[in-house]
Amino acid sequence: MAIRCSYCSKFVSVDPCSLYDADLDIGIDNDGNVFAVVTGELQCAECGNPILEAEVEEKQTIDFTHDSGCDDPDLDVIDGKIESVDEGKTPITKNKMYIVWVMATIECASCGAKKTVGLDVKMPLSEFGEY
Ligand SMILES: [Zn+2]
Ligand SMILES: [Zn+2]
Repeated sequence: MAIRCSYCSKFVSVDPCSLYDADLDIGIDNDGNVFAVVTGELQCAECGNPILEAEVEEKQTIDFTHDSGCDDPDLDVIDGKIESVDEGKTPITKNKMYIVWVMATIECASCGAKKTVGLDVKMPLSEFGEY
């Protein structure tokens, strides 16, 4: 896959590009699932400007154990960050995919119990659009 960069007007291949400047939005939705929204950019290999971007959301149910006597469960993400970014292939098309590994620490404000969960957010190259 190659596109014309709107900054330097060169045709650049996006396959070797690394995901950079990935942003994370993490929290707990109304259904009690933890969600992670990752926004990432691919950079032009010639001039370094962002040429493609994508936003992908991943959700996961939380298997949480409260301390005994917790009568008002109130979960929140107290710490969430992108741990690492790997590169893989999508199962069917074998196109390139970025796998963003997110770690989140969830705490119950009521009983103080904590749990750390991991989510892998998969960003196939096909999800990326013009910047
Ligand atoms: Zn460029
Ligand atoms: Zn609790």
